[in-house]
Amino acid sequence: MKAVMKIELTGRQEQIIDIVKNSGPITGEQIAEKLSLTRATLRPDLAILTMSGFLDARPRVGYFYTGKTGSQLLTEKVKQITVQEYQSIPVVVNQSSSVYDAICTMFLEDVGTLFVVDEYSTLIGVLSRKDLLRTSLGKQDLEAVPVSIIMTRMPNITVCQKDDLIIDVAQKLIDKQIDALPVVKEVDRGTKVEVIGRLTKTNITKVLVDLAYDELI
Ligand code: ADP
Repeated sequence: MKAVMKIELTGRQEQIIDIVKNSGPITGEQIAEKLSLTRATLRPDLAILTMSGFLDARPRVGYFYTGKTGSQLLTEKVKQITVQEYQSIPVVVNQSSSVYDAICTMFLEDVGTLFVVDEYSTLIGVLSRKDLLRTSLGKQDLEAVPVSIIMTRMPNITVCQKDDLIIDVAQKLIDKQIDALPVVKEVDRGTKVEVIGRLTKTNITKVLVDLAYDELI
């Protein structure tokens, strides 16, 4: 976590922050003068520092230091990321599908969680790898067992919506000890939900990597 918190600023950007800390509010022109550079040369650095939240700029006043630390800025940024920015395409099977078909779908689509829907695309269940593995240990004919018998079913399914914060979804994945949540949309005035996406631990891992490599913060 330490490495992610560390914000890579260039030497010149550090210098600019120091100048603004000590002499702000200060105009771009004045900062340039102190560094013996032109205003144009500084423009990209000032843009980066304001976009990433270290500095703020007010017209006719100039730049001032926001006083936010790197980790405060990172926290703010994490709390703005929503599900829709990272969700994957959902893989669904029909409730009448057999366990055998569900296993084939899981391999073919290369996913760890399947969502079970009825003929109107309404979410009715979830199938995990171990749900299928458990059934496979028995002596039953997997082609004869419908997934509806072994799935976890509504209303016991933890869901999320596209505008939810990723950090809240991550918390749900931890609390419920599951690998994925269906991203749903309410239909029929909230009486039913349709699956529109899939949010998995892999998506959350991608958030972490993107944050670490994001040069703005
Ligand atoms: P695995 O069982 O392969 O370790 P999970 O940890 O995701 O995978 O699933 C654990 C159990 O929780 C399974 O029985 C599965 O049906 C159920 N489950 C998975 N996702 C959800 C969810 N979003 N809401 C409710 N139950 C779920």
